[in-house]
Amino acid sequence: MKYISTRGDRTPKGFSDILLEGLAPDGGLYLPERYPQVDLATLERWRSLNYADLAFEILSRYIDDIPAQDLRRLVGQTYTAEVFGTPEITPLKQLQPGLYLEALSNGPTLAFKDMALQLLGALFEYELARRGQTLNILGATSGDTGSAAEYAMRGKKGVRVFMLSPHQRMSPFQQAQMFSLQDENIHNLCIQGVFDDCQDIVKAVSADLDFKRRYRIGTVNSINWARLLAQVVYYFAGYFQATTHSSQRVSFAVPSGNFGNVCAGHVARMMGLPIAHLVVATNENDVLDEFFRTGTYRVRTSTQTWETSSPSMDISKASNFERFIFDLLARDANQTAQLFGTAVAQEGGFTLSPALRERAAGHGFVSGKSTHADRLRTIRHAWAQWQAVIDPHTADGLKVALEHLEPGVSMVVLETALPVKFAGTIVEALGREPDRPAALKDIEQLPKRFEVMPVDVAAVQQFIRAHVQVSAS
Ligand SMILES: *Cc1c(COP(=O)(O)O)cnc(C)c1O
Repeated sequence: MKYISTRGDRTPKGFSDILLEGLAPDGGLYLPERYPQVDLATLERWRSLNYADLAFEILSRYIDDIPAQDLRRLVGQTYTAEVFGTPEITPLKQLQPGLYLEALSNGPTLAFKDMALQLLGALFEYELARRGQTLNILGATSGDTGSAAEYAMRGKKGVRVFMLSPHQRMSPFQQAQMFSLQDENIHNLCIQGVFDDCQDIVKAVSADLDFKRRYRIGTVNSINWARLLAQVVYYFAGYFQATTHSSQRVSFAVPSGNFGNVCAGHVARMMGLPIAHLVVATNENDVLDEFFRTGTYRVRTSTQTWETSSPSMDISKASNFERFIFDLLARDANQTAQLFGTAVAQEGGFTLSPALRERAAGHGFVSGKSTHADRLRTIRHAWAQWQAVIDPHTADGLKVALEHLEPGVSMVVLETALPVKFAGTIVEALGREPDRPAALKDIEQLPKRFEVMPVDVAAVQQFIRAHVQVSAS
């Protein structure tokens, strides 16, 4: 299987080549040259597999430059009951007949990003060892992504993480999660500023090409194809649990921000998984809902991007969206480059023709949005009706899912985080603290490891220099 860029670069690249890369050189995103097709007989055969074996079957159709026995081992070591809490890895919980939550948040950081990043950590370690290389991951976080990346890379050989976060601005729980890691290859840099300052420093360091090359600086951002691919697996796993035979169709409701999670659903559907609808749920930052309702994609400025109580969905543009548009345009790279390289860059967006809008609906997408009031109401409803405590992001998904129920089609709502991560909103909705997994009871009391630094690019570079040995090459 070879990978191509959404903007036309057709230099054939294998999975391992794009694993450690971000954007394609022409600014596009990588996609496989075609989607492997899964027929009914194969689906019926996969139905009885455990999660790791299912993951191997799916991944091996996209990865042909890692020996099968190695890939099987990496996947088997990643998706274990010890790491994800149950042998099913992503168990379904029935709310009422035909309506389910799929638990994607029982990994080490209690959010669905662990599903992909845990595998990415294993793949990075494997590929770097094979190449005799090292990588220094530099990132900025206001919470979720940073901790998922650190828990994925902790103790991994050949990888160091330098994670910038705004000093004293994350919740005590989030700080405890990240700063209690004692692994030597994990570095928490607390910047005396806001999240944007952290992000600006990361951009400045990455723009210093000399420094970037010399210190082998990389990222784990959400456009990485391997992350998306890992997420395809739980659509299959959820589908099998919600059905008894692969002639049945299922819809998925997905709390969405950067369009990474629901894009994996699109890939699963393109492979032949019988998905009726992909329900895109946004919060007040409704870039995606607006697109699916009107055909207009309009990137927001930072002053038009709201801070909400489902903060991991607070986005101004949807980084993975270009992948879907490329497929929607029947993989016309010139047109994709025109829309994203020109129209988005110069005019802040584009509007599709009515014919293309119709074609988007043909890909199964529907959408809706949810506000803070909706979120509180949905959290209360889930508790009163089903004795389920759900987090604010999952509540956005459930709210929009309930607007799209169809007779005879089961609806699976993806649970993207556990409520304990967003205790403030749970207290506001239910008047009580959410339960905490036993292993995290006293996490705030653990010793913390972090470095406080000014908003200063040179100081961050100096810190990296002091903690990285430059290889001879
Ligand atoms: C990242 C995140 C999302 C959004 O996922 P995308 O892939 O960016 O659409 C939703 N919920 C939670 C809890 C997240 O951490």
